[in-house]
Amino acid sequence: MDARPVNEPGFRESVDLMFNRAVSLMELPPGLEEKIRVCNATYTVRFGVRLRGSIHTFTGYRSVHSEHMEPVKGGIRYALTVNQNEVEALAALMTYKCALVETPFGGSKGGLCIDPREYNEHELEQITRRFAYELAKRDLIHPSQNVPAPDMGTGEREMAWIADQYRRMNTTDINANACVTGKPPHAGGIQGRTEATGRGVQYALQEFFRHPEDMVIAGLSGSLDGKRIIVQGLGNVGYHAAKFLSEENGAKITAIIERDGALVDEGGLNVEAVRRWIADHGGVSGYADATYVEDGLSVLENECDILIPAAIEGVINLGNAERIKAPLIIEAANGPVTAGADELLRKKGCVIIPDMYANAGGVTVSYFEWVKNLSHIRFGRMQRRQEEARHQLIVDELERLSKDTGTGWTLSPGFKDKYLRGAGELELVRSGLDDTMRAAYQSMREVWHGRDDVHDLRVAAYIVSIGRVASSYRAKGL
Ligand code: GLU
Repeated sequence: MDARPVNEPGFRESVDLMFNRAVSLMELPPGLEEKIRVCNATYTVRFGVRLRGSIHTFTGYRSVHSEHMEPVKGGIRYALTVNQNEVEALAALMTYKCALVETPFGGSKGGLCIDPREYNEHELEQITRRFAYELAKRDLIHPSQNVPAPDMGTGEREMAWIADQYRRMNTTDINANACVTGKPPHAGGIQGRTEATGRGVQYALQEFFRHPEDMVIAGLSGSLDGKRIIVQGLGNVGYHAAKFLSEENGAKITAIIERDGALVDEGGLNVEAVRRWIADHGGVSGYADATYVEDGLSVLENECDILIPAAIEGVINLGNAERIKAPLIIEAANGPVTAGADELLRKKGCVIIPDMYANAGGVTVSYFEWVKNLSHIRFGRMQRRQEEARHQLIVDELERLSKDTGTGWTLSPGFKDKYLRGAGELELVRSGLDDTMRAAYQSMREVWHGRDDVHDLRVAAYIVSIGRVASSYRAKGL
């Protein structure tokens, strides 16, 4: 879906414009720029499924933007607004995202033109299996060629169906589980994947707030504690980001914008309660503990410290950018700020943490899941108890020393429990994600502050990613 005004370039053009801005500051061999920018291939499929007594025809896409590394990676979106341009723009963003956070994949994306709310679970399963069949048949779902994942309108359930469908078609493939990520933990998934994109947004903000010089550019100071945050879209990403930032960092979620309007409470909304309300009532209207604003998108323009667009592309565009007051925007969605709005906001001094970095937590944990599937063993299974045994040795030794020397030293309450516990899969996933988000921020930051001609994080992110994709093409002799 695209919220931008009609006279603004579309999503794919917008991504290309941002790409061009970065590339004009790089010295790539002639022709390589074009090779990297263009989308390699987009497959369109129309298939029929018999539902409710008649045949329904669906249109789906799988676009492969860059195969400089394989498999290629990217989610599958279910929405009525899915179209080829959108899928190609999203596939391009996947290429740059994977390069930026160093997940060894090329970029891809898929979409099915469907409103998933119009079908029951059984129907959705039939549709998903048929779509998966069409893609798998052409290696567009394959553990070493193309590995989909959830996106808007899809989740664990759809990924489990896709994995099962692939398995049925490839009964002797020992790596079949690695054909898709974002599966439920009981069906080959990994702990922490569902929360991963939201968790990544939290880690990205934590990293930003570790750099006072960067905060000054946005006119911010202090910590995340008490910061006023507006979240647009309380889907999987927005919900987890808002939940973690409010519950763990002390930030205040002062507004939540949804399809049917917005809720505002300067004192801070209860994210869990709002999420439950939406699940039960299909929207935010009627929620009692906040002020309801019918024109939800107007709330993007409210005063706040951080704005988190976490739903669709193009919500911040030439139609509203001038009125946006947030000094810091973190793009939890893909492409929420148009190229035109980006320029305008930059001129106003707003700092934008770009999508390809901000929402890379999802693909990062997808990478861990894929590695887990290929290694056929859960992270931590071999080391955990051994680690605990070694920690126990130290604790025993400290206690013996205290006793033998008569110093009476005792360990702080809770220390033993925390120190003795070896890391399980979830802790390892979080640690790997945090490390990834910190490292990727550092690589953008070096370019942002290290070059006189780079003035924003987005161009810095593109320069890092394009540079990596270019080296990979060069290594292939291109
Ligand atoms: N759909 C997600 C994204 O846009 C996740 C992709 C993946 O895990 O492959 O980044």
